[in-house]
Amino acid sequence: AKEIHQILDDTPIVTKQQLEFWHWIAAYYMCAVGEVMRAALPNAFLLESETVISLKQGEAFNAHDLKDDEFLIYEALQHQSSLSIHEVSHILDKKNALPVIKRLLDGHVVDVQEEVYEKYKPKLVRYVKFPERLQTEAALRTVLDELNRAPKQREVVLALFSLLAKSQNPIKLKQLTEASKASPAIIKALIDKDIFEAYYLQMDRVQFTGEKSADIKTLNPQQKQALQEINQAFSAQRPVLLHGVTSSGKTEVYVKLIQEILAQKSGQVLFLVPEIALTTQLVNRLQGYFGEEVAVFHSKYSTNERVEVWNQVLEGSPKARIILGARSAVLLPFNDLRLIVVDEEHEQSYKQFDPAPRYHARDAAIVLARMFKAHILMGSATPSLESYYNVQQHKYALVALKTRYNNVLMPEIELIDIKDKHKRKRMTGHFSDRLIEAMEEAFKAGFQVILFQNRRGFSPIVECVSCGHSPQCPNCDVSLTYHKFKGQLRCHYCGYYAVMPKTCEACGSPEVDTKGFGTEQVEKEIQELFPEVKVGRMDLDTTRGKYGYEKIITAFEQQELDVLVGTQMLTKGLDFRHVKLVGIMNADNMLNFPDFRAHERSFQLMLQVSGRAGRTKERGKVLIQTYNPNHNILQQVSTNAYDEMFKEQMDDRHNFKYPPVYRLIKITFKHRNYNKVNEGADWYAKSLRMVFKAHVLGPVFPPVSRIRNQYIKHILVKIPPGQSLAKTKEAIVKINNSFMSVKVFRSVRVILNVDNY
Ligand code: ADP
Ligand code: ZN
Ligand code: ZN
Repeated sequence: AKEIHQILDDTPIVTKQQLEFWHWIAAYYMCAVGEVMRAALPNAFLLESETVISLKQGEAFNAHDLKDDEFLIYEALQHQSSLSIHEVSHILDKKNALPVIKRLLDGHVVDVQEEVYEKYKPKLVRYVKFPERLQTEAALRTVLDELNRAPKQREVVLALFSLLAKSQNPIKLKQLTEASKASPAIIKALIDKDIFEAYYLQMDRVQFTGEKSADIKTLNPQQKQALQEINQAFSAQRPVLLHGVTSSGKTEVYVKLIQEILAQKSGQVLFLVPEIALTTQLVNRLQGYFGEEVAVFHSKYSTNERVEVWNQVLEGSPKARIILGARSAVLLPFNDLRLIVVDEEHEQSYKQFDPAPRYHARDAAIVLARMFKAHILMGSATPSLESYYNVQQHKYALVALKTRYNNVLMPEIELIDIKDKHKRKRMTGHFSDRLIEAMEEAFKAGFQVILFQNRRGFSPIVECVSCGHSPQCPNCDVSLTYHKFKGQLRCHYCGYYAVMPKTCEACGSPEVDTKGFGTEQVEKEIQELFPEVKVGRMDLDTTRGKYGYEKIITAFEQQELDVLVGTQMLTKGLDFRHVKLVGIMNADNMLNFPDFRAHERSFQLMLQVSGRAGRTKERGKVLIQTYNPNHNILQQVSTNAYDEMFKEQMDDRHNFKYPPVYRLIKITFKHRNYNKVNEGADWYAKSLRMVFKAHVLGPVFPPVSRIRNQYIKHILVKIPPGQSLAKTKEAIVKINNSFMSVKVFRSVRVILNVDNY
């Protein structure tokens, strides 16, 4: 036995339940438990420094000269600015990665450096006060007399005196120097003379301004009924799906449930949202009701801020009774979890794609709740087929809210046929007359308008009029998107960009046309149609930066903008008071997306974005432009026919053997060598077929079959109802191991995705 060198933590930073939960995630989603830990633990817990490699800047070399293993690392470094030695070995699946690293160093492809992490340190703030001996006025007066010959010091003493007189709180040194303009030398002199006493207090990095500012609302009869049904199901330990139309007051029902927990002495609530950055409104609402008891676990927090939230959750701090966060919040160290709310449970952002663990936070939350015997409520206006199916299978209880709060009518939805050239009088750009007219009306009456277009940029395809050539990304198998504002062509997959050429690269023709349209073009066209209105745009391009979203949402909320144009970001539970009209610019590109969930998703997206209209007294209006108004989904959207949509989609899923009836495991192969991807995927598929027979689909190339110079192929394994998931995974792991042991396939990346979304 060795001597103990150092005790790193006084108490464990990870709980027993957490470990158990991580093991469940690793087993279910087929990854290593270390990968789950990596996703869960803030970096500041893990390391102080580490040797990493990163791409050498400004060095020219030909990536095609790299050997396979070198290329893998090169490729990984384009996703991630640096890689540790450990990560390199992991990617290469080699114990000793040093020879490869050495080759990359010698070839001037990478640099080595020491990456220093901030190890968690509490944030200390300096305060000043008068020492014990000067607490009486007489004593202070004597000091002031003594300082008659040092007028500057005397002034600072008086300044502290008046600050203390005015405030209940301790006085920060910074506050004093700002109030008195005192120099550090003066302060130091006063401390040396024992007239001031300096001390430190630990501060939270994450400061919530949240003060209780609103009373919890009294529920209306429908909400009361829903609450009662939810509580009934909870007492039978059943998960509950709350299917409530947009603006039916689901959030107020959540609030009541949370209030019931907070009324007890202890107990934590996890409130999951699809994307925290888009949730400012909800954060404000919850903090208004519960003040300091709400902690936010923000994806953009620094590692130190994460540690603070982590510790609060671990300690069961009164500052973290309610933890509001996106997907990774399920990985926090709860100690007394009583309730989980999964808001907008249908959102696909609950599923992590890359890297592992490829978990689904809603589904994982069900397991987490079971571990704690906590209650779990999932809410949505457009439930996922998965959850609704689970209701049918009696796994979840269903509670419904069918009307909007305060009897506000559901918006009126109108389909506009833009196909028939005779019927449509005229299209101005991408706006039908009907839409223009409705916008005019809305503006005149002082209302705001939301326009939804599920594509960013200006136009997705640039095409030469004479030869039909359209510029492609050099790294991916995809056309470049035109971004007019920057005059660039950009790849939405790898970030590649180039200047928009004036003439066709292939034939030199000066006539280059654009096809399709994105948010940027919609924005420009509105400006041309309505020069006087103020337009904002919300998409990936305009919301970078920590508060990117917040600024746009606030501006729209405060009516500084008349129109908000955006992608699906607009659909996530925003609550605006003055929106009368929602326009969906083109319903068809969503419906035609090559994915078995495209119809379900289109229904959800369109109803969610429609739900932004007319949330107060005035009935809202939604106009959907389409070439195909008879499409079933559009008909169902226009009548809010969820049940019909569900039935029809479920028939398809039954017939074509897709989730939620069958389970899916998607196996992805990546390699920069086309033949290797093909051979590897074929080998794998053949082995799978020997076990699973007809339930193996593929291998096939996805619609975008090359990204960042890597070819991609997929295999789908379908798992029929009743077939053991665990046994299926076992068989796949076996095949995977033999695949890895084939020498020529060693450099092929294989990604396993369970319950692929
Ligand atoms: P949902 O979450 O279903 O979209 P919300 O909870 O956001 O609906 O409710 C829509 C609007 O109605 C909000 O402005 C909310 O404050 C208001 N509201 C809902 N229920 C009540 C209630 N019981 N009393 C007062 N206002 C309510
Ligand atoms: Zn051309
Ligand atoms: Zn690309």
